[in-house]
Amino acid sequence: MTPCKRKCWQCGNIAMHEDNIVPHVNCKKCGSQDTRLIREKPGKPSHAGHYWALWLTASPGTHEGDQLTPAPEWEVVQVWENFIGDPCEADGVDESERWGVSVAGVRETQWLENFKWGAFIPEPFTH
Ligand SMILES: [Zn+2]
Repeated sequence: MTPCKRKCWQCGNIAMHEDNIVPHVNCKKCGSQDTRLIREKPGKPSHAGHYWALWLTASPGTHEGDQLTPAPEWEVVQVWENFIGDPCEADGVDESERWGVSVAGVRETQWLENFKWGAFIPEPFTH
């Protein structure tokens, strides 16, 4: 069993598939076998956790955001999932609002677009 997200090149439907072999690869909408694995977008977090990031811009309303950004150095930030629901439904969600980002010492939520992204830091991470 290799669950994966696939996109149908016939009808454009995106769905989670239970495995990567026939018949599981068949499009759940139109039945086409021409579905392809969706690769995670490079350079942006695709799951929750800690990442190295360079804070470039502050989200609207961030206290002293103008002075805090652009940050002089890379720092560790925490990414958390802002979208709660079926992962399949998350495909239609605006990616900029799917993930929230917490910067140490900053109360306001930041978003993926506010950063340049670096490496994921495996748990456990302690400050
Ligand atoms: Zn299809």
